[in-house]
Parts: sequence; C-alpha cells; structure tokens
Amino acid sequence: MHVLILGGTTEARRLAGSLAAGTPAGLRVTSSLAGRVGAPRLPPGEVRIGGFGGAEGLARWLGEHAVGAVVDATHPFAGTISSNATAAAAATGVPLLVLRRPGWVPVAGDVWHETGSLEEAAGLLPSLGRRVFLTTGRLGLAAFAALEDLWFLVRSVDAPQAPAPARMEVLLDRGPFTLGGERELLRRHAIDVVVTKDSGGQATAPKLTAAREAGLPVVVVRRPPVPPGVPIVPDPEAAAAWITARLHRTAPTTDG
Ligand code: NAP
Repeated sequence: MHVLILGGTTEARRLAGSLAAGTPAGLRVTSSLAGRVGAPRLPPGEVRIGGFGGAEGLARWLGEHAVGAVVDATHPFAGTISSNATAAAAATGVPLLVLRRPGWVPVAGDVWHETGSLEEAAGLLPSLGRRVFLTTGRLGLAAFAALEDLWFLVRSVDAPQAPAPARMEVLLDRGPFTLGGERELLRRHAIDVVVTKDSGGQATAPKLTAAREAGLPVVVVRRPPVPPGVPIVPDPEAAAAWITARLHRTAPTTDG
C-alpha cells in the first residue's frame, strides 16, 4: 500500500520516521512538502516537494501513484491543502485521515484575547500594547502593515517580504524554543503584547508561559475548522496505528 503524508510539521516528520524505522512489509510512504521554506527539515524516506495543482491535481496524483491512503498531517493553519485533500479523497475514494495536534488551552494567569483572523488580531493590538512580539509567520504580515505606531519583533523561518510593518526587527529562527530563551526575548525587547496562531504543540509553547509569567496579554488567532466528516487523530502514534490497520485490511490473505 502506498501512503501519502501531506507534511510540513513535526508530527508529519515523526510519522514518516516511525514508518521508515519499522516499515511493515508492503508499505510505501511518500511525504509531501509545499516547498515554502528555503531549507526544509526533510522527513525520512521518499519526499516530493511542491504543490499538486489544487484538489484536481492532488486527485490525479493519487491515481497516478496508486495511493491507497492519505494522512493530512499539515499545519493546523494550512486550510487550503486540507480542504483540497478532503475533496481529492472524496473524488477518488482514497481513505483520508487528519493528523492534527491539539490546540493550546489557557491556564490560570493567562491573559488571552482570541480572534478569528490576523486582521482581527491587528485591530486589537493598539488597545493592548506598543511593542509586539509577532509569531504568526512571514506570510501574514500584510495584516499588520498599517500599524505605524507600533513596533514589531517578527520571528519567522525565512525573511519576510513587503507588505510588512514599517517599524520592525526580524528574527530568523525556528523552533523548538526554550522558556529561558523566550523570557530573555520578551525582556530584551521590552515586549508588551504577543501575537500567535493557536498552532498547538510543545515546540513553540514556551512563549505562552513566558508571557503568562510576565503578565503580558497574548492575542491568539483561532484555527480554521477541520473539514467535517474526516477522521482525526491527535498524534503520530495514532496515525501509524490507522495506517497499519488499513494495511492489514488490504493485505492478501494466504488462508483462502
Ligand atoms: P495552504 O495555504 O493550506 O496551501 C496552499 C497551497 O500550498 C496548497 O493549495 C498546495 O498547492 C500547497 N501545499 C500546501 N501544503 C502542501 C504539502 N504538504 N504538499 C504539497 N503541496 C502543499 O498551506 P500554507 O499555510 O501555505 O502552508 C504550506 C505548508 O507549510 C504546509 O505543508 C504546512 O503544513 C506548512 N506549515 C504551515 C504553517 C502555517 O502557519 N500555515 C506553519 C508551519 C508549517 P496546490 O494547490 O498546488 O496543491
């Protein structure tokens, strides 16, 4: 059985790694990356890079490569590829599983302002602070470009492009981040408000703890909904179990 993992996340790499390490006989795994990042962390095993050409292109790819199951392990905010995967799976009849790490949950002491979009987050900012730690990625900076009175520390994997805030410092880095490092960043740059997507997971969560400790407000952009009707699991182990179960179902029997 050929499994396609739609990746670009730690969980997708872990799933590919665990399948590569203990590959059950008869399983072939291909990981797919969008090609957004200059030097991506490659998952173990076969990798393809680049878009498919929408839901139709993905459906075609599934047919041409005899894919027997798809795991959508993309980032919680990669909504387009997730809806394309749902459409392609429906069109081809290929089983689809969504692997989505759980979202973050506020705890006592957190001062969170939840918003439905980057634009809404930008609208809130002037009432919350002047020096912003912006961790929502380089592609959504246009939403903050008009906030000329605020200063931004923008952290992203690759360098941002215009439109972007006029007053900003860029920090090129990628997780995992440490609590000590995040505390120091907030202190050194006199940050008074943090903006994040609800990405979930441990790698980028220390900023939330550091903000809580410092009593800073955090603007949290909510996730797009998971396409309805698709089974969803929270971790790579559960996704591997789903694949193994499908493999056993498709394996030819020898006992007649
Ligand atoms: P998106 O808006 O959902 O997808 C835009 C287009 O990129 C898709 O229509 C598809 O092109 C292509 N694409 C996306 N993921 C792909 C994959 N795994 N393999 C092949 N093509 C893919 O996605 P995005 O938010 O730009 O994210 C791009 C990638 O970065 C995703 O793989 C995601 O897991 C990763 N990522 C995203 C974020 C985030 O905050 N959005 C954060 C960390 C990592 P075609 O229509 O041509 O097929």
